Amino acid sequence: MRSMAQDHPPARLTPPTPETLARFAAIVGDKHAIRDPAAQTAYLREWRGLFTGKTPIVLRPGSTAEVAAILALATETRTAIVPQGGNTGLVGGQIPHEDGAEVVVSLARLDKIRAVDPEGNTLVAEAGVTLQRIQEVADAESRLFPLSLASEGTCTIGGNLSTNAGGVAVLAYGNARDMVLGLEVVLASGEVWNGLKALRKDNTGYDLKQLFIGGEGTLGLITAAVLKLWPKPAETTTAFVGLPDIEAVGAFFREARQRSGPALTAFEVMPALALSFLERHVAGARNPLSRPHNWYALMDIAGFQGDGDSATLAEAIIGDALESGLVEDAAIASSLDQQAALWRLRESLPDTQRLEGGSLKHDVSVPIALIPELIRRGNALIENAMPGTRPLSFGHFGDGNLHYNVSQPPGMDGEEFMRRWWEISGPLYNLVLELGGSISAEHGIGRLKRDQLVTVKSPVEIEMMRQIKRALDPLGILNPGKVL
Ligand code: FAD
Repeated sequence: MRSMAQDHPPARLTPPTPETLARFAAIVGDKHAIRDPAAQTAYLREWRGLFTGKTPIVLRPGSTAEVAAILALATETRTAIVPQGGNTGLVGGQIPHEDGAEVVVSLARLDKIRAVDPEGNTLVAEAGVTLQRIQEVADAESRLFPLSLASEGTCTIGGNLSTNAGGVAVLAYGNARDMVLGLEVVLASGEVWNGLKALRKDNTGYDLKQLFIGGEGTLGLITAAVLKLWPKPAETTTAFVGLPDIEAVGAFFREARQRSGPALTAFEVMPALALSFLERHVAGARNPLSRPHNWYALMDIAGFQGDGDSATLAEAIIGDALESGLVEDAAIASSLDQQAALWRLRESLPDTQRLEGGSLKHDVSVPIALIPELIRRGNALIENAMPGTRPLSFGHFGDGNLHYNVSQPPGMDGEEFMRRWWEISGPLYNLVLELGGSISAEHGIGRLKRDQLVTVKSPVEIEMMRQIKRALDPLGILNPGKVL
């Protein structure tokens, strides 16, 4: 696989004239049409600083009708539109290009919960509602909305669905795609598709919502969604487990999964290096176990009876694994505070790596049984490509999805390390593909991996994607230069 880093939006689009900009502003009102560069900053910089874009205007519509009017005008004037939710995406899809010709449409003001139906176990939310608020609204009804990411205080459900976000509960509940019953979408033409059905069974033709879920804003703008709710567990037991090697992690996961079934709601891993980064950079972070181990697993087991059933199960599984030598040590949280402290270790990891200099991110997945092979061969080829680099592969073991990140060798110039990224990423991605895996497990393609997409999909797949794009966005106004 080769990288072909080039970037240019399609030529048939026109940069908006002052008159067009005034018409866009009139749709949302001047207060919600941001032209001041200082006030635009938060919309133009990607979280990791990989992309910083330019735009003549950020529009903040307050209703589906305003989104529809914006897209109708964009079609009329051939103006490129970049949809944005919470701006936490990690592949640059929500950031406009640097030429300053694209209009950013923030969905953040579409922030109403339109309905909650505890009996039907559904909730209707507008696109700009944050994930955390949806979790809280579900919780107040004694229900669970299980999507859970470290960015949940900021990311929006519209962004979650557009990226088909994963997170820490995929093992039991699936990706964002599995949590949706219906969508409301504004098409490139400005037409509104009201697909807000709350049906769990509906086989009337093509399941159109699936096109927009994971569409990264290239096929339409999601304005609202009917979400599924689940029974809220009465209790959850969290355990932090020390293991000798990645093969033991695999064997322990199989055992825990087999004995817990769907009650095992999270199974995350991190290597020893992760704990040393955390201890160095996060106030109050410390190893919950009395000595270091080569690998750690963090797992949640849910209980629905409220009689300590989850703790009994966790203790039995861990007890047997300690006896057989699979697990070296373990700590089971005995309070909500302890539970939160264990999860804080995992959630602080993405930020911590920034403090160790240049860090390359690889959001990859392979069949679960092949994770040990991926780690063994991957670490060896990374060391071979650039001696002294520090691989830190952590994340969603139970989904076969690792954030196979690599920190620069200590003392090396961070910028030089990032410039030489392909020396590490190229061989690593090739290994992932050889193992039948994916080079983007949950973050999407956006702009960051666009040029790699054509090298990992077959010509038939790419042509089907292009035909779908042409059918839904014939002028190419929606998020040009992203995904395809
Ligand atoms: P944005 O970043 O604003 O947009 C993302 C993409 O969706 C862009 O292409 C944008 O154009 C499009 N878009 C946004 N809203 C709409 C809409 N309404 N209609 C059409 N298109 C739209 N991701 C995971 O999957 N799992 C994780 O565990 C995870 N952890 C993270 C941890 C941290 C600390 C951070 C910073 C990010 C993490 N992410 C994770 C990535 C990110 O949070 C998700 O991709 C999230 O779903 C993006 O939501 P957002 O509202 O911020 O979308």
